[in-house]
Amino acid sequence: DKHQRAHRKLITEIGEALNQDEFILHYQPRVDLATGRTVGVEALVRWEHSERGELLPGKFLHIMAGTDEELILGKWVLRTALDQHTAWRAEGINLPMSINISPYQIQQPDFASELKTLLTKYPVGTAEQIELEILETSAIGDLNQVVEVMNACTELGVHFSLDDFGTGYSSLSYLHKLPIHTLKIDRTFLQESNFTSNDHTIVNTIVAMAKGLHLNVVAEGVETQNQLDYLRELDCNQAQGFLFGKPFSS
Ligand code: C2E
Ligand code: MG
Ligand code: MG
Repeated sequence: DKHQRAHRKLITEIGEALNQDEFILHYQPRVDLATGRTVGVEALVRWEHSERGELLPGKFLHIMAGTDEELILGKWVLRTALDQHTAWRAEGINLPMSINISPYQIQQPDFASELKTLLTKYPVGTAEQIELEILETSAIGDLNQVVEVMNACTELGVHFSLDDFGTGYSSLSYLHKLPIHTLKIDRTFLQESNFTSNDHTIVNTIVAMAKGLHLNVVAEGVETQNQLDYLRELDCNQAQGFLFGKPFSS
């Protein structure tokens, strides 16, 4: 009961924070490994808490899972990332934008139609510059419905990537069923402290599989030159990580 009350209290607090504009987005560059050029940015939400300071998503997103507040925050993230994308474009900076979408968000049957309406407010060509990052767990539940929503979004011009790849429990057959364009290899497989030969094998295999399936492949959490050299040898397309740049505010 105590736990439930604390949980409810935090959700109420999140609702208030939404009204008071306490959320902001940071952006982390994604780099092409062949050219070294920045080929996009990922929007990452932060909560500027009035008492606790800046909170990372790990402190609040899981608490919001499945609530109305999560959907409201998700819409705010989409609008804000699209606004930023448009503002940069007006300055001559044309950077594809990756936006994280929670499982509950993509499971909403009206997600695609709402996205379609939202996109009408932005310049022509915006959709093609947007990549929605979803987790494997998004497809757990009604797979057909999620695929339908994703197909409708794809028709609008946006692409999808599968985030944190390798950490879920879902079957590899999702790779065929979900209309995705990019695989993002979870950073746990690259962590220097346990970058053992087993992890090498896993990263090798994921890159080879992605290539075989004609998917773009991004390594997450690249922190050292050592990791970068290794990824280059594997012919991994792209990477994100503190080595190239931490998430920054606009
Ligand atoms: P993610 O989408 O896999 O994002 C990458 C996370 O790894 C980010 O953490 C980023 O700051 C961190 N990271 C990037 N490079 C490095 C590195 O070299 N080393 C280390 N140690 N970490 C690195 P962050 O911002 O705390 O976000 C955590 C997760 O929260 C994200 O993982 C994503 O699943 C979720 N998230 C963030 N923003 C949103 C959002 O707007 N909506 C939804 N639904 N989820 C979000
Ligand atoms: Mg992501
Ligand atoms: Mg990830």
